[in-house]
Amino acid sequence: MDDWNPRTKLVHAGTRRSQYNEVSEALFLTQGFVYDTAAQAEARFIETGPDEFIYARYGNPTVAMFEDRIAALEGAEAAFATASGMAAVNGALMALLKAGDHVVSSRALFGSCLYILEEILTRFGVEVTFVDGTDLAAWEAALRPETKAVFFETMSNPVLEVIDIRAVAELAHAVGATVVVDNVFATPVFSRALEQGADVVVYSATKHIDGQGRVLGGVVLGTEHYIRKVLEPYMKHTGGSMSPFTAWVLLKGLETLDLRARAQAATAARLAAALEGHEKLVRVIYPGLASHPQHAVAAAQMETGGTMLALEVSGGQEAAFRLLDALQIFTISNNLGDAKSIVTHPATTTHQRLSEAQRAALGITAGTVRLSIGLEDAGDLERDLSVALEAV
Ligand SMILES: *Cc1c(COP(=O)(O)O)cnc(C)c1O
Repeated sequence: MDDWNPRTKLVHAGTRRSQYNEVSEALFLTQGFVYDTAAQAEARFIETGPDEFIYARYGNPTVAMFEDRIAALEGAEAAFATASGMAAVNGALMALLKAGDHVVSSRALFGSCLYILEEILTRFGVEVTFVDGTDLAAWEAALRPETKAVFFETMSNPVLEVIDIRAVAELAHAVGATVVVDNVFATPVFSRALEQGADVVVYSATKHIDGQGRVLGGVVLGTEHYIRKVLEPYMKHTGGSMSPFTAWVLLKGLETLDLRARAQAATAARLAAALEGHEKLVRVIYPGLASHPQHAVAAAQMETGGTMLALEVSGGQEAAFRLLDALQIFTISNNLGDAKSIVTHPATTTHQRLSEAQRAALGITAGTVRLSIGLEDAGDLERDLSVALEAV
């Protein structure tokens, strides 16, 4: 299996067959497992082997298939599946940190990630320093001997800043810090964050991995030691484990992930090129465009520019709302990575909680519009955007 290419791994890796030798992955919708003897139960509580299960909060065969499949894709030693992306982010950090530790994080974060770093960790005596993630000098200045972890989104939400994983990891490792990255926007298809120096990679599987808007899920990937000895005790005792049903849906999502992500990214690149320079737009932000501030970093660490783009509409909120309301194919929602193209106005929804100054620091203005490109016909999406921009 180690020499399989990613698409083959996404279809076959991690498969466990029951005594019936089913083709499609079995859904083990069971909370618990039966032991043949009392001695077997005792032995399993002392040490649980990879194909032995005790209780679904600790592990389940369908969930294990999902974990092994995504670990194979990422080249990770181990993975732990969680109930949502936020359970993954929370677990990855809380399991690692204690009072007195210091964390350095990029400032441009998904709202709930920011809440964990700013509000929750600090309540338990963890000190957090926020930096501009694209500024290597700022990382270097913020790191200290007691820095236990660094955290960043490799491509940020919503204005798609790309952070240099190798460079930040090198600085962090020099002070002995663990590098935890949220790789949702970059996707497991286009980014190899572990190879590039990250120690722990976190995904919201709700996004591209499901990619069809059906379930919430997440996963944490890392070394055998980190997953089994650091993260798993925290997750299994605090209850953020993935349900078998979710794992089964996500296994099916993984089978088509590579095809979907590539088709979505190809359309995103086409739309970005078509929209750049449009008279109603101040700016088109797409890491695949040469005009993107971190285009070189993106090209070096990601296979494509990804499936997301951001527009800066001239005319502020009123103009942005007109664009959203005039779009026929793009649906107004806040998911991303979905088969359905989605349009979001961050300032009034996902980033509403922030002050205007905080939004400005992240590059979010009243005219910022985020687009998640789906699987529809690229020509139809281009026409939809072009007609809607006339209404602006
Ligand atoms: C959606 C998202 C999350 C949270 O994932 P959920 O599955 O919604 O809990 C975390 N980080 C990023 C970058 C996201 O886009």
